[in-house]
Amino acid sequence: MSPERQIAVIGGGWAGCAAAIALADAGGRVDLFESAPVLGGRARRVVRHGLNLDNGQHLMLGAYRETLDLVARLGAPAPVRRALAIAPLSASQPNAITLRAPAWPAPFALLAALLRARGLGPGERVAALRWFARLRRRGFRCAPDATVEALTSTLPARVATALWHPLCLAALNTHPREASAQVFANVLAAAFDGGAGAADWIAPRGDLGTLVPDATARHLAEGGHRVATATTAHVVARAPAGRWRVAAKDDARDYDGVVVAVAPHQLAHAFAPELAWQAPALAGALADVAALASEPITTVYLGYVDRVAVDDAIIRLDDRPGQWLFARDDIVATAGADAPQLASVVAIAISAHGEHDAWPHPALVAACDAQLARLSPGWPPCTWSQVIEEKRATYACTPSARRPASGLVLPALALAGDYTDDRFPATLEAAVRSGRRAAVALAASLRDVGEPVIPANAGIQP
Ligand SMILES: Cc1cc2nc3c(=O)[nH]c(=O)nc-3n(C[C@H](O)[C@H](O)[C@H](O)COP(=O)(O)OP(=O)(O)OC[C@H]3O[C@@H](n4cnc5c(N)ncnc54)[C@H](O)[C@@H]3O)c2cc1C
Repeated sequence: MSPERQIAVIGGGWAGCAAAIALADAGGRVDLFESAPVLGGRARRVVRHGLNLDNGQHLMLGAYRETLDLVARLGAPAPVRRALAIAPLSASQPNAITLRAPAWPAPFALLAALLRARGLGPGERVAALRWFARLRRRGFRCAPDATVEALTSTLPARVATALWHPLCLAALNTHPREASAQVFANVLAAAFDGGAGAADWIAPRGDLGTLVPDATARHLAEGGHRVATATTAHVVARAPAGRWRVAAKDDARDYDGVVVAVAPHQLAHAFAPELAWQAPALAGALADVAALASEPITTVYLGYVDRVAVDDAIIRLDDRPGQWLFARDDIVATAGADAPQLASVVAIAISAHGEHDAWPHPALVAACDAQLARLSPGWPPCTWSQVIEEKRATYACTPSARRPASGLVLPALALAGDYTDDRFPATLEAAVRSGRRAAVALAASLRDVGEPVIPANAGIQP
């Protein structure tokens, strides 16, 4: 694009960050608008009691190729990469499976992990492998209306309920009885059939802000672009010469192109209502998005004055109420002077709706405390806690969820956001992929004849 192209990106979550960086790389002048005081959206730093927390515990995989590419592009500290390891909190935990995948090429990593899995009998291991091989043979294609429960119904019960169902709940944030088999199969294909290291477990070295949001703000500011936080923006009208008028605070400007990268429940508010009446394509996208249901994710942080030893793995709990536990030593390492004196912090993740929805936070903390002591006798009570409940963490990833695609919805107006990705469920990778695709589509539509759309160093895979 020629440098005088003015682009507005509305929404500074990971989709908006990815779009803004790609459009800046493509030569546009970018204004990035974010309603909240910080960038990051549903994956952002939250400072509580002098501790740098995340708004919710996140897990990334080696299969998050575009996210990792963006992190590298931004020069952010490289995250920690470990071979996938899932282990129960204690060896005596009923129905728990220990899975360690070596960093081998697909599908040998999963083959080795299942053959060596603890907690499954020989027949169950073979059944799990055959099931995966069948899914792979048919190109990971599932009936469009199939649920994960139906997809796994031919498996021995323990393989379905102790292995694939918890992974489905974690990855799709939707219960297996309602979750889309096709999207789950996409995740399995990406992780276990996606090349060496795709199943690796990736964690930032600090809070989520350090990985993409901070680096995006820095990179855009250094390039002379504008990052307007605490600023809600709206597309208000079509302007002359095919441009769009965007209003933010008491200012309104015309832009050559706009990317709207907000969460599904925020989409309708990003446009003046008359635009939808005038443009059936936009009205159709808004109607589909309005019909999406959402699912919560709750993260319970527990702190300890003495160090607690946690296996170097993703720790599986027994769902009563915590589902997964992560050691978060980075939170202790980056604590401010006013923070409580803690030697260890763990984060407990609880995906989707459940009976815990109705519990007050102190009751949830007490239940998690009791759960850890029950599963691992001798586990100490916490001395500090913080509960962060994201009521609209993701859209409910059901087979019937109709979602618009990332890219142009009207001329020079593109949609991005995790809900627009056609492959992954609502994840960081879906957000980044969508932002980059929206940027590519917008840049192509604004292309000046004879110029490259995206420079080779932008790292975008169309
Ligand atoms: C608790 C929790 C745990 C999660 N765990 C994982 C995980 O383990 N792994 C994983 O990959 N994913 C996980 N996710 C999902 C992941 O965080 C999201 O899919 C991703 O962050 C969505 O990014 P986005 O940019 O599409 O949307 P958002 O992050 O929602 O960004 C939209 C942004 O737009 C802003 N905005 C809205 N309207 C306007 C407006 N009019 N003007 C200006 N700004 C506006 C909002 O403030 C927001 O910052 C989790 C999410 C949560 C909440």
